[in-house]
Amino acid sequence: MAEKNGEVQEIKHQEVGHKSLLQSDALYQYILETSVYPREPESMKELREVTAKHPWNLMTTSADEGQFLNMLLKLINAKNTMEIGVYTGYSLLATALAIPEDGKILAMDINRENYEIGLPIIEKAGVSHKIDFREGPALPLLDQLLEDKNNHGTYDFIFVDADKDNYINYHKRIIELVKVGGLIGYDNTLWNGSVAAPADAPMRKYVRYYRDFVLELNKALAEDQRVEICMLPIGDGITLCRRII
Ligand code: SAM
Ligand code: CA
Repeated sequence: MAEKNGEVQEIKHQEVGHKSLLQSDALYQYILETSVYPREPESMKELREVTAKHPWNLMTTSADEGQFLNMLLKLINAKNTMEIGVYTGYSLLATALAIPEDGKILAMDINRENYEIGLPIIEKAGVSHKIDFREGPALPLLDQLLEDKNNHGTYDFIFVDADKDNYINYHKRIIELVKVGGLIGYDNTLWNGSVAAPADAPMRKYVRYYRDFVLELNKALAEDQRVEICMLPIGDGITLCRRII
């Protein structure tokens, strides 16, 4: 129990690792019910519901973040995009719906099976022609892209949502691939709130394991003069990096 505004409240999530970073579950629910679910495209709702039945559903992008990505991509007029870490495709669909008919998403994941769970829904939504899915680890694929100078500085938006222990390695490469003025979004940079928790706080094993990598990334991005940054507490935290040189 804890006291807030004179009221005694039950603390539901003492363990570091709860998904919502907001102070109250009710407030998060309010956002979803008032502004996100009523405006969620039917295809994204269907994909969210299918994904909810999958055993690894913890990995999916939340509906509020999907809505944010969709608007962000429209605001920046993104056309040529990349996604590292697809899972069943919720953020991919948010992207595909936001970019123009001739827009492109180079999507990478080591697991094609999960992508194929969402694919029929993406096809039904009429946006699968924008997606070029590559199965395999992202690092060698990025190295391959870098070999061709024509790919340098060509991406309007890159969303990174895969293995957190490689984010620094991804950054070294994708900073060359994103346009000057383009955006990179690093997802889960608040890592279940663990980044601000004492090292000995109770945490799930995977949260503890990746915590140091996320801390290191956050520090490196704050020091990187090639980008302007903005860390937003949406979903599990997303750091936007705008390439300036
Ligand atoms: N953006 C997705 C969504 O909206 O549902 C969630 C992505 S999930 C958090 C992380 C994904 O990264 C998993 O599907 C996993 O297979 C993939 N992944 C893990 N290591 C990878 C690697 N080395 N290269 C590419 N993808 C990887
Ligand atoms: Ca994520």
